[in-house]
Amino acid sequence: MAENVSITVAPGDGIGPEIMSATLHVLEAAGAHLNYEHIEVGDAIYRDGHSSGIGPEAWESIQRTGVLLKGPITTPQGGGVKSLNVTIRKSLGLFANVRPIRAFEPFIATNHPHMDVVVIRENEEDLYAGIEHRQTEEVVQALKLISKPGSERIIRYAFEYAQRRGRKKVTCLTKDNIMKLTDGLFHRLFREIGVEYPELETEHLIVDIGIARLAALPELFDVVVVPNLYGDIVSDVTAELSGSVGLGASANIGEKAAMFEAIHGSAPQIAGKNLANPSGLLGAAVSMLVHVGQGDIAQLINNAWLKTIEDGVHTNDIFSKVRSKQLVGTKEFGDAIVERIGEVPEKLHAVQYKANRPIVIKYERGKPAERVLVGVDVFIHSHDEVDAIASALEKAESHALKIKAISNRGIKVWPDGFPDILKTDHWCCRFMAAKEGTEITNSDIAALLTQLDKDGIDFIQTENLYYFDGERGFSLAQGQ
Ligand code: NAD
Repeated sequence: MAENVSITVAPGDGIGPEIMSATLHVLEAAGAHLNYEHIEVGDAIYRDGHSSGIGPEAWESIQRTGVLLKGPITTPQGGGVKSLNVTIRKSLGLFANVRPIRAFEPFIATNHPHMDVVVIRENEEDLYAGIEHRQTEEVVQALKLISKPGSERIIRYAFEYAQRRGRKKVTCLTKDNIMKLTDGLFHRLFREIGVEYPELETEHLIVDIGIARLAALPELFDVVVVPNLYGDIVSDVTAELSGSVGLGASANIGEKAAMFEAIHGSAPQIAGKNLANPSGLLGAAVSMLVHVGQGDIAQLINNAWLKTIEDGVHTNDIFSKVRSKQLVGTKEFGDAIVERIGEVPEKLHAVQYKANRPIVIKYERGKPAERVLVGVDVFIHSHDEVDAIASALEKAESHALKIKAISNRGIKVWPDGFPDILKTDHWCCRFMAAKEGTEITNSDIAALLTQLDKDGIDFIQTENLYYFDGERGFSLAQGQ
């Protein structure tokens, strides 16, 4: 007999306790090999004065078990509190957000009867690293960080997931026609890693048309892998297409821990009324079972759930006079699933979870690239005209570094800039090696900055310009 796996269970707020109770009832009836550590998170803990909605004992449990099954949390109103989900995701390094969304036609009404999409979103990087600066009076910036290990990890995860679940195609969405280095890296890694999975079809779409097509024709998509920001949008668009928010499940996966939850919130209007659909949380529990190596039990539960849906036993949110046969509450829906354990659906596609191993992604750092420093972008704050700025910068040139171009909001304004461009107080001044193709040093840059400082130039940021293995590691300004 399989050894029991310990998991941490947090019922959450609103409808959380009801849907958790129905879910645990099904897990137990199906013979899941689990030990439960019960914790409290959310509303009561916020009110107890813990600003992130979780206390030290609850943390200890999650860190001990590495698996959290969580009900929805009511986000407290007002300042001074932190989102529990973001805290858990960031503290545990949950890099992959996995959301499977499918249609259950003809049993649940949907406009997209053949939809069966899994969105795999990178969860930690991109603009969501939250690194922002106000640099001048007029300009603020956010850093979009895309790393090779972070991208490789999520892309490999998506391909492994697709392969193990018998999926056919993986689609990657980026905007690498504009962001050639950041999104370009994600796309390049997708292409390279895709070659290792010849049995899977691969496809890349520019994110804007990709999301438009997904919203109109979701049945053309299978597994979708995306950087963080686009992933946030894509996963909500996809969930919205599915019919009921009560059906969606989501898994947040890290190297050492994972969190499983429904995609919906705590639905306070229907809390305590035995009305909520527990399917989202149960779907999350099914993903959890696959994650901890109990794919056989996950399969048993998912097929019993499909049979229940097929038999027309429906909660209020998916009930239809035409399609449904019996209207049930949260508890009775759980009981109906339990009665069908061991049965498989006749019309809906029965699931089969082949692989029982968890997906483990190992990143191996390759041979370091040969890096050559060839220049520096010095960002300055100034209200002067561009020609006056250029003359001041020419004075600071050294034997090592010469001013090559000035841009404003990414558009070249000197030399030979377009006259009518809106110019802010934030200028990017590109200094390159005086002798083209030669390497400069950080000392050359330090000497330049010392001179600029002496000349009264108000610099606010610098960015070194490198070639990596002969490939340019920086963008050119529009018009440069
Ligand atoms: P919600 O998802 O709770 O509710 C939206 C609508 O869907 C409501 O009409 C609700 O009755 C219905 N609904 C939701 N889940 C259902 C279910 N299982 N069965 C039947 N109907 C269901 O979204 P909201 O009202 O915007 O948010 C309520 C609270 O939940 C807020 O405090 C919000 O911040 C929080 N929230 C938490 C999470 C989370 O913990 N992961 C996610 C989203 C929202």
